[in-house]
Amino acid sequence: MPTMTQRQKLVLPGGHNKLLLHSCCAPCSGEVMEALIVSEIDFSIYFYNPNIHPQREYELRKNENIRFAEQHGIPFIDADYDLDNWFARAQGMEHEPERGKRCTMCFDMRFERSALYAHEHGFPVISSSLGISRWKNMEQINDCGARAAAHYPGVTYWDHNWRKQGGSARMIEISKRENFYQQEYCGCVYSLRDSNRWRKEQGRERIKICEKFYGQAEEQ
Ligand code: SF4
Repeated sequence: MPTMTQRQKLVLPGGHNKLLLHSCCAPCSGEVMEALIVSEIDFSIYFYNPNIHPQREYELRKNENIRFAEQHGIPFIDADYDLDNWFARAQGMEHEPERGKRCTMCFDMRFERSALYAHEHGFPVISSSLGISRWKNMEQINDCGARAAAHYPGVTYWDHNWRKQGGSARMIEISKRENFYQQEYCGCVYSLRDSNRWRKEQGRERIKICEKFYGQAEEQ
């Protein structure tokens, strides 16, 4: 059995060796990227996350991801920040809980654009770093990924479980090693509102965006 720090060599479905990796942020994609690099898989990062609010939070999450991609020489595709489009699709779902209908829409939106880009630019496989987070419902994410890829016969969604074989622990190790920005809410304005509501109930301070980094004195 592999130990926590050992990785198994990953193999893409269908005998392919080229992947478009949708990335949601540096902490989630750090381990995913390193696992792909050691597996010698040719991949590019696709950053399309119009859910993130406010814009300075979006820019910081994106720039942290660019920094890590550049460090490893991985191509980084910076897609649109079409927040208006995201809000239009979220209408009527403002009070949905996390992992509910609004999140399905949010994952659908991000995978739809990733699959389209893969189709237009010759990537036979797509995946996402979204599933590595223990806060997310992996089945919900995989359904969205498969649904988006199904529109294009030449594109396959790879439902690899990034949490397994020590992936979750390495995600934290890498985040601390790299001093990544540590976001404290999922990303949209509604998740910020709900996280702050929960904190208030717990007697905790409101979230201070763009301030906390992994590896700072306070341990998680
Ligand atoms: S909580 Fe997260 S996944 Fe759900 S809609 Fe908001 S940003 Fe998207």
